[in-house]
Amino acid sequence: MGELLVDILKSPERTRVSFELLPPLKGDTIESLYKNLDPLMEFDPPYINVTYHREEVVYRNVSDHLMERKTIWKRPGTVAISAAIKYKYRVMVIPHMICGGFTREETENALIDLNFLGIHNILALRGDPEISTRVFIPEPGGHAHAVDLVRQIMNMNRGVYLDEELKNATPTRFSVGVAGYPEKHPEAPNRQSDMQYLKEKIDAGAEFIITQMFFDNRKYFRFVDECREAGIQVPIIPGLKPVATKKHLSYLPRAFGVDLPGDLVKAVEKCRSNEQVKQVGVEWAVQQCRELKEHGVPVIHFFTMGRSDNIRKIVQAVF
Ligand code: FAD
Repeated sequence: MGELLVDILKSPERTRVSFELLPPLKGDTIESLYKNLDPLMEFDPPYINVTYHREEVVYRNVSDHLMERKTIWKRPGTVAISAAIKYKYRVMVIPHMICGGFTREETENALIDLNFLGIHNILALRGDPEISTRVFIPEPGGHAHAVDLVRQIMNMNRGVYLDEELKNATPTRFSVGVAGYPEKHPEAPNRQSDMQYLKEKIDAGAEFIITQMFFDNRKYFRFVDECREAGIQVPIIPGLKPVATKKHLSYLPRAFGVDLPGDLVKAVEKCRSNEQVKQVGVEWAVQQCRELKEHGVPVIHFFTMGRSDNIRKIVQAVF
């Protein structure tokens, strides 16, 4: 249970796999998460990511002419779940921290909790916009961009907390990762500006990058080259998600701004059931993993999205 991910990434002996988990839906138990994670732990992941989800606003009909606005938090518990996983499986955890829905004060308190729990690696993200507005609106007193969150965490690493009157506060030792987008972030006007902002996050103190999913390895390799040309030298962990349903053909490009290669689309279109689509997705991801492994990437990060059966098949075939 090494302390910092960057230390593992510095001298990788072989390509390893890691898994990103979603907190269970409110009302569900942590056992459902363990059920997904148990079959993956035999692959000895160096760390497990736990996503963070902001509140969502929903509108419900209360009468023919009246709608009620309700805020619901569907997947709370990231900090507690991270601690539970860390101590149950004796594995490094990387909770995600997001700007959306949080004031700086709330962020600071969550970071203090993580520090007390011995959790020192964090993935710092802006977070997705609210589904109802589709535009990211920062919380009053919160951060507008992931770089601001990175800076807040780096301040704590220097012993600088929000309360300026605090004297001799103990510095934290967080190692922070950030998101990178081989096909650019969907809101970025072009890849150059996206790269410039990624560089800002690294210059602010981020020590590793985990990429958005991609289905064509050439995009990842090009992205790594562009990062190096831009002076970004930190490890860049590729993120993969296997296609699993026919709906993914339209959902993944729409939700994540990624392209699906023609051959993959054709193979999925030929499938008669989602079971067949899953098999196509597994085979595609196996090819991607083999090439990434040959290329010597330190870790392959799987977005599990609450399902482990297809991920298990991929890892079994490659490692
Ligand atoms: P930023 O780095 O802030 O970038 C967002 C956009 O703003 C980009 O277009 C960028 O080019 C631009 N930009 C950046 N800085 C500036 C600036 N200073 N001025 C002007 N423009 C700027 N979302 C969740 O809600 N919870 C999760 O747990 C989660 N986990 C994720 C894990 C991974 C590996 C990845 C790749 C994404 C994850 N996301 C998650 C999604 C992520 O929150 C969204 O993609 C979000 O829209 C952008 O987050 P970011 O941290 O990249 O934002």
